Amino acid sequence: MGKSSKDKRDAYYRLAKEQGWRARSAFKLLQLDEEFDLFSNVTRVVDLCAAPGSWSQVLSRVLIKGEKFGRAAWVDEEAQFKQQWMNVFPHLFTREQLESAAVVQKEDVPTPRKDVKIVSIDLQPISPLPGITTLRADITHPATVPLLLKALDPDYDADTGGQQASHPVDLVLSDGAPDVTGLHDLDIYIQSQLLFAALNLTFCVLKPGGKFVAKIFRGKNVDLLYAQLKIFFRRVIVAKPRSSRASSVEAFIVCIHFQPPRGFKASLEEPLGVGYKLPRMALERERGLPISTRSYLQDTTRGTWSVPSGSPEWIAPCVNKDGVTEVAFDDFTGEEDRERQNLRWIAPFLACGDLSAFDSDASYALPSDHVALDPVQPPTAPPYKRALEMRKAAGGAYGKTGPKG
Ligand code: SAM
Repeated sequence: MGKSSKDKRDAYYRLAKEQGWRARSAFKLLQLDEEFDLFSNVTRVVDLCAAPGSWSQVLSRVLIKGEKFGRAAWVDEEAQFKQQWMNVFPHLFTREQLESAAVVQKEDVPTPRKDVKIVSIDLQPISPLPGITTLRADITHPATVPLLLKALDPDYDADTGGQQASHPVDLVLSDGAPDVTGLHDLDIYIQSQLLFAALNLTFCVLKPGGKFVAKIFRGKNVDLLYAQLKIFFRRVIVAKPRSSRASSVEAFIVCIHFQPPRGFKASLEEPLGVGYKLPRMALERERGLPISTRSYLQDTTRGTWSVPSGSPEWIAPCVNKDGVTEVAFDDFTGEEDRERQNLRWIAPFLACGDLSAFDSDASYALPSDHVALDPVQPPTAPPYKRALEMRKAAGGAYGKTGPKG
């Protein structure tokens, strides 16, 4: 498919090039922000699986340059509109209204934020972006955690610093996607592994109250995942931006207000997503029982559990009158085990993006003089690079002798 037919078929692909974004994904993040106000009070961000870098561009323009998009821009437009009326009919407004409008108007100019730190990671090299630290690393590899911690804080020392960021971040984004095979179950499985890797990194760097946004594929068992995420965040919502094709299983999980269970420590020795730790915690939460994060803490006579006073019940450690007893997974009964495996929670679903925005599944007619632009940033090291080189060396798709040869 040529550039101009893609331009016609996919309005966001065309718009991305016109507006200087490296990928059409930029609109997904902008539309998510429109709905969830993701960037308010945010200065430290980690962008996982970031190549070619359109999400990082959004971060750079909003946080470093102080540009306003979406909701922030609407607020400005509304304020400007109100201000015009206030200038013409000041007597219709109270003094407080006039004063607050003057303050809003002062804020209209781009306001770069102070002490912004953005770290972007991908398997592929990311072409430099001003003010952003880029790392080429695999988010599923344990060695990436110290790399990230060092990038966030140059004084970080892996020997003494442990696995937690000393200056934790406000927002972690992950737009990770594997090279899809077309085998749905396999793709969904690999995607979920990327998500767990992103979560394990997130737990090492996110501050309490922080936000986590990640791409998911909505497969058969995705509601198990929602139940597990709900252990760590006050709100978990599934969002589908208008720029994400309705025909695609892609959606974004928006997790707001990180509240790790008390005593929880991210551990690469015992990462989440492996074994039964997460499902056990989810089951405890579902039952309204106190959650232990080190492992499943159980007293065979459950009635004797107590919760230290002042602790929200579901995050308090389990303590019985003889102290805490740790038991292995085998201590579940068969029924509990089935319950654990079937624990599901339906997260609220929100379509986001202005309704007047382009429909990503529609084809749009273009003016006859439309000129298709080149992509802003071609892939730096795509997986198909070698295949292209080999094909070029062999004289193109049909070899040196042409289509009939
Ligand atoms: N958010 C990006 C943007 O706006 O430009 C687009 C991300 S693209 C959809 C998915 C990215 O996930 C690819 O660049 C791919 O290299 C990356 N990825 C996949 N597996 C990864 C892994 N294990 N570690 C790091 N990056 C990974």
